[in-house]
Amino acid sequence: MSDTLLVTGASGYIGSHTCVCLLQAGWHVIAIDNLSNSSPRTIERIQEITGRSVPFHTIDVRDESALTRLLNQENISAAIHFAGLKSVSESVNKPLTYFDNNVNGSITLLKVLHQQGVRKLVFSSSATVYGDPKKVPIQEDASLSATNPYGRSKLFVEQILNDLSQADPEWRIATLRYFNPAGAHESGLLGEDPRGIPNNLMPYIAQVAVGKLPHLSVFGNDYPTTDGTGVRDYIHVMDLAQGHVSALNRLFAKPESFTVNLGTGQGITVLEAVAAFEQACGSHIPIQVAPRRPGDIATCYASADKARELLNWQANKTLDQMVDDHWRWQSHNPNGY
Ligand code: NAD
Ligand code: UDP
Repeated sequence: MSDTLLVTGASGYIGSHTCVCLLQAGWHVIAIDNLSNSSPRTIERIQEITGRSVPFHTIDVRDESALTRLLNQENISAAIHFAGLKSVSESVNKPLTYFDNNVNGSITLLKVLHQQGVRKLVFSSSATVYGDPKKVPIQEDASLSATNPYGRSKLFVEQILNDLSQADPEWRIATLRYFNPAGAHESGLLGEDPRGIPNNLMPYIAQVAVGKLPHLSVFGNDYPTTDGTGVRDYIHVMDLAQGHVSALNRLFAKPESFTVNLGTGQGITVLEAVAAFEQACGSHIPIQVAPRRPGDIATCYASADKARELLNWQANKTLDQMVDDHWRWQSHNPNGY
């Protein structure tokens, strides 16, 4: 495939890994990011891994004129929209910042794409739109709700995308609901580089393992799960990235919009994740049991059936590969990029 794609949020964690898969699948990529949560060094590393060049522009997706200028110069066939803010706790304190970035940013991008005649989009949604799921594994037709502004921003954009594809069936939109991405590119050159203290489990464990943080606080050990700790569906970021290639192939093949989960279908407890990471790094990860984190749910994992049927995609990498790759990235890049 030699069409050109616009990738927003391309220097971020999931965007950078997806760019590698897209380039390796033969697509051309134009990368944009406002660098609010990433480094332009990721773009150099994408180029190093793939041997392909990636034009990069520092552009905010809310900047309509900059986007229009760029798309006037480039012949884009589709966009993959990763750009957004993603911290649940920050969103509670700064709801307007989150709605502006994630909702207004998406609307501005959609307007510019529409004006330019581009009608194919892949959107980064999240399992958070399922709120506290009534049953697991979670199927795509489960009820939706949000418990914080971040989740609401994803839900709003999903609804906007539904309205848009109903108003103009020319639009082909893939809404991808990610479960919990973890791991890194196997080269150790790309990975997650959180600013400040990580919120998410895997990067937190990784920073304990490398000696940057003293211990992991386990948020609750009295959940109704096998060992009392929270259960999530951790998916290797390269499997997730590959899911975008499959989603794009489907969008180019069939004139339809769709929404799918990207998860493994397997739930892992916090203590199982810690044990796997200890194997990978060969050292003990000190833990302290702490109170439950407000807003956390006990168990969340995907039904991966729809993605398998619709996209012919499934996650292939194991938990051990995920933590090995995460550890390689963290130990080779203890201070990030
Ligand atoms: P990330 O922060 O590493 O990447 C997002 C990128 O978007 C960053 O490089 C940031 O600088 C950029 N960005 C933010 N606002 C922007 C704006 N207004 N204009 C241009 N660039 C902007 O996060 P990620 O983990 O790679 O997440 C990518 C997408 O996937 C996000 O939309 C996120 O909400 C969604 N998502 C992430 C997770 C997760 O656990 N990582 C789970 C579900 C969904
Ligand atoms: N968690 C934890 N300590 C941490 C971070 C997370 O015990 O420092 C737990 C959290 O309670 C949840 C799981 O790890 O059960 C995954 O949390 P994360 O924030 O990575 O993902 P999310 O809860 O958003 O799915």
